[in-house]
Amino acid sequence: MNIVIFGPPGAGKGTQSNLIAKKFKLHQLSTGELLRKEIQNQSKIGNEISSIINAGNLVSDNIVGDLIEKYVSDKTYKSRIIFDGYPRNLIQARNLDDLLKKYDQKIDIVLKLSVNLEIIKKRILERKTLEKRVDDDENIAIKRYKTYERNINPVINFYKQSNLLKVINGEASVSQISNEISGLIEANKGWLWNIRQYKYAGNKNS
Ligand code: ADP
Repeated sequence: MNIVIFGPPGAGKGTQSNLIAKKFKLHQLSTGELLRKEIQNQSKIGNEISSIINAGNLVSDNIVGDLIEKYVSDKTYKSRIIFDGYPRNLIQARNLDDLLKKYDQKIDIVLKLSVNLEIIKKRILERKTLEKRVDDDENIAIKRYKTYERNINPVINFYKQSNLLKVINGEASVSQISNEISGLIEANKGWLWNIRQYKYAGNKNS
């Protein structure tokens, strides 16, 4: 089972993806994390994108597309990915569809975490003291929220058409949200197949 999770910055995508990945043996693929690693490693891509990220803008579709292809094409993760923060615009949504088709996979569930701007600002300021992300400054956070709002509507419509979209109240508690998501996953029979594949791959005791 492949899952897409999106929502504004600070919506809790990372937290929820992590919990769900552990519970259902999925691989959490966070494009934000992958991009931050590129910056940390001072790779060629890393040097190109740090100013883009720190200004609250989106990195180019080709760069993120190449990063995710590495995982989608890897058999270890086949039909076991939770896409955290991808896609963020219509081009990326279409690219993801094509990429999954190319590797004989599909998306089973799309989760949208909804949270209003006032709560986002509060959460990001709290997170800044913990994670020290340069882009967690209040003004950049507002910019990221606007970037999200500007790009996401076509993505929402895209997934509504295929009946995959589930909207979750991202203002509830971490455990309430994760229970709600778990319920949605368990209601979708793809996850049983998933666990079987995982065990079949040699993880007998997990
Ligand atoms: P948040 O969603 O809280 O802003 P992320 O860690 O998901 O945090 O993303 C951080 C930044 O990384 C984004 O503001 C953007 O610049 C870049 N980024 C992440 N995912 C993508 C993507 N799919 N396409 C383009 N840029 C991305």
